[in-house]
Amino acid sequence: MSCCKQCGTALKTVEVGLTMKLIDRGAKEYLCLDCLAAFFSCDRELLLKKAEQFRKQGCTLFPSDRTKEN
Ligand SMILES: [Zn+2]
Repeated sequence: MSCCKQCGTALKTVEVGLTMKLIDRGAKEYLCLDCLAAFFSCDRELLLKKAEQFRKQGCTLFPSDRTKEN
């Protein structure tokens, strides 16, 4: 399991998917939800909604396990 390249938090599948989808498809290092939210100056919730949208579109970066934390 990889860790966030900024803060070292263990990453979830959805965070890896979001990094690849929103920042760099070929990314080898990923950001956690908090660091992604800071990067885009947006809300974590918004990112999770995006992930849900991508998943519904059938994006393979977002396998149909849970995309929400908590
Ligand atoms: Zn982080």
